[in-house]
Amino acid sequence: MKLTSFHINGKKTFITLTAIIFTALALTSCRTKETAAAKYFESMNTFMKVQCYGDNAEAANEEAQKLIGSLEKLISVTKPESEIYALNHAESYPVEVSEKTAGLLKTALSIAENSDGAFNPCLYPVTSTWGFTKKSYRIPPQSELDKLLKLCNWRNVKIEGNKVTAQPGMMFDLGGIGKGFAGDEAIKVLKQYGIESALLDLGGNIQTIGTKPDGTDWTIGIKNPFEEGAIGALKTSAGAVITSGGYERFFIGDDGKRYIHIFDGSTGRPVDNNVQSATAIGSTGTYCDGLSTTLFVLGPERAVQFWKKNPDFDFIIITSDKTIWLTKGIEKSFELLVGEDAGFKIKVIE
Ligand code: AMP
Ligand code: MG
Repeated sequence: MKLTSFHINGKKTFITLTAIIFTALALTSCRTKETAAAKYFESMNTFMKVQCYGDNAEAANEEAQKLIGSLEKLISVTKPESEIYALNHAESYPVEVSEKTAGLLKTALSIAENSDGAFNPCLYPVTSTWGFTKKSYRIPPQSELDKLLKLCNWRNVKIEGNKVTAQPGMMFDLGGIGKGFAGDEAIKVLKQYGIESALLDLGGNIQTIGTKPDGTDWTIGIKNPFEEGAIGALKTSAGAVITSGGYERFFIGDDGKRYIHIFDGSTGRPVDNNVQSATAIGSTGTYCDGLSTTLFVLGPERAVQFWKKNPDFDFIIITSDKTIWLTKGIEKSFELLVGEDAGFKIKVIE
């Protein structure tokens, strides 16, 4: 029997194709006028699910999948046909890119500016030398990292219109923001098909259109970073609930230490703070994806300072001491799903 799979906020679950068909039928049968359809596929190195409610649900899903595939071809760091690949291997500047890529780069650079470089879309020289793209992991010496960090200064990038100018040797890595962007672009397509209610799970990035078809908020599981399953549920129709987790991709070095895929651009080393996961909740995927990575790098105390200056989103940060840092805007809509004996405590940020 053919197997397919999907993520619920980072949790990979395998289900049979039969189950999908059954679910789709069940969804359809409990609706009167509208139809519902779900589509599962792999893109951007992860499993994705688009679930739409509306008369054109199936056609809309189809187009959303196509669109996400086409965006991967624009922004992939490894595909030689991508615009980011062309930028990363340019022999001279400026390099002209599409409006979509230029727009995404501008947003990425503005988050870099706003976070004082905690978010850095130019870390590819560093992330690749640790082997994260090719999964051939190593621990580079600091002297090598120090040299590579000179190629990671995002302040040296200038974008005018669609023309990008960088310094020779610089390389972009939009892994921290690309899936959120794909979600926003997919949502535009779904809306063109008249979809007013949808849930997208792009490898654990949850994005929604409107509310559930019955008019109530979506319930979104927040992954327990310490073990399988959800730690809590968030009821929201904000639009984007995006999590960065240290558990998503990491390797254990010969020294027995865990090295994760989110990097501190000031050292060139994987972040090694007390953050287990960081979730940003807001209206757009691009911003929240950029933010989830930013919050992870900043750590809880600096994340609070950042949020006080930029209060246009909410966040959940779970730290190693089992504290759940939660901004006040979502205090009432977050429900802890683990018992008291699990030892978690909630700290509300006002
Ligand atoms: P996310 O899961 O959204 O936090 O994205 C993690 C990915 O973002 C990594 O796999 C890298 O491709 C990239 N990345 C790592 N560190 C950073 C950083 N400090 N700023 C921006 N992107 C990063
Ligand atoms: Mg991110």
